[in-house]
Amino acid sequence: MAQYPMHINGHAIPGGAHFDVINPSTGGVVGSVPSATDAEVDQAIAAARAAQADWAARPSDDRAALLQRIGDRFEEESERIASLITQEQGKPLSGPGSMFEMEAVVGFTRVPASLDVEPEVVFEDDTRLDVLHYVPLGVVAAIAPWNWPAMIAIWQMMPSIRMGNTVVIKPSEYTPIATLELVAIMNEILPPGVVNIVTGAGDVGARLTSSPDVDKIMFTGSVETGRKVAAAASTSLARLTLELGGNDAAIVLDDVDASAIAEGLFWGAFVNMGQTCACAKRLYVQDAVHDEVVEALVNLANVMPMGDGLDPANVLGPIQNTAQFDKVSALVEDAKKSGATIHCGGVPTGGPGNFYPITVVSGITDGVDLVDVEQFGPVIPVIRVGDEADAIARANASTVALGASVWSSNPERASAVAAQLDAGTVWVNQHGAVHPMVPFGGAKGSGFGLEFGIDGLKSVSQPKVISTAKTG
Ligand code: NDP
Repeated sequence: MAQYPMHINGHAIPGGAHFDVINPSTGGVVGSVPSATDAEVDQAIAAARAAQADWAARPSDDRAALLQRIGDRFEEESERIASLITQEQGKPLSGPGSMFEMEAVVGFTRVPASLDVEPEVVFEDDTRLDVLHYVPLGVVAAIAPWNWPAMIAIWQMMPSIRMGNTVVIKPSEYTPIATLELVAIMNEILPPGVVNIVTGAGDVGARLTSSPDVDKIMFTGSVETGRKVAAAASTSLARLTLELGGNDAAIVLDDVDASAIAEGLFWGAFVNMGQTCACAKRLYVQDAVHDEVVEALVNLANVMPMGDGLDPANVLGPIQNTAQFDKVSALVEDAKKSGATIHCGGVPTGGPGNFYPITVVSGITDGVDLVDVEQFGPVIPVIRVGDEADAIARANASTVALGASVWSSNPERASAVAAQLDAGTVWVNQHGAVHPMVPFGGAKGSGFGLEFGIDGLKSVSQPKVISTAKTG
């Protein structure tokens, strides 16, 4: 069985104790990965610290050129790594799956490489000149989840090193292999210690985030773990970017053509089997188009092939892990008990693998867990609403607010609704459409800090003002 080493200070570290990574489509073992010891985590942080000053001292253009070379290598290795993503995460090679994830890996590498944060003159008069610079923070600890393991790791690592920081990353124990391989490629090109990777369970993440020698933590995962990370950072006062998922509402207005929006809405809810932080997780659909929207979603669910993602015919895969599978199953059972109508799916497909069919649920409303709790799976509750104000109030009645969307054929109407929704991003006639040039981050309990674009680069930098008196 293949063993995948960690990388610390430019060296492949085979580690001692190992754990198996399980293929959620088959239940088989994909490979074996080290459980980092506390000493190895500390060594990785020390390596990142030792490498940081020289890395930051390099001209910005040099760092950018190295990132572009990494982008070239990622492109060359796309198919191999996409296959690993499919095997460990489950998302198919086809559709918006692992090849799509690798395109994003390349794009989210090349875009920060192409950007530069220029110093800003913030004030000048006859007496003084004040210039705001963005300088590296130091060592960045990155903690990544299991849903888009390669892409989110890249979101965290690339802006960090672009700005002259060094990195220690810990992928999720469920999906570490593709990230180990990406970091191995990065270490072919980068100086030793610039990017280090340690693997293991939550305790490895906790060791990393509670280190006094980490300057910035980039965390993507659950609200509960995000709170623990914030508590750990309260001692070191490490800067934080917390991307904690959400329970995104999509509001469908009564002027839509249901068949025209169906595919966008379908993938907005079910990309990666709904295991996406910025998926539509609650649909509020106006009465006049409710039935047509439900029917259009069910029709699509019935024709989308689901199965082992290594088969290119499949565009839908399994739920990534059994805990998530159990959570989704329980939410659907609870919805059934509440009297909801299941239009398709609603019963596990049966093994091997954690397959659960696309499930469209109506006759449900706020107050039932499937609406109130982030399901993070292939199940969508469709809530019938009357007027726009009602839909907006329900959408906003949540403690989390990552994204939201409005679907309408009337741009003014859509804009008016968008302006009233609480969310880090409100999409119109699309959902979850992140882009490497467009800032992305949560509101309320979905966390804080921006990723992507110039704002993302600023988030992994220390703002520093140089204020000069004009004399003579
Ligand atoms: P977690 O928040 O537990 O995991 C996210 C990452 O944090 C993983 O790498 C995990 O490691 C690590 N971690 C766990 N404990 C700690 C700790 N104390 N300190 C530092 N890092 C830690 O998410 P789950 O996998 O448990 O998923 C639970 C729920 O979270 C899902 O049902 C979903 O609702 C939400 N979620 C949201 C995501 C998003 O994109 N925003 C992504 C994933 C989940 P390890 O996996 O090895 O335990």
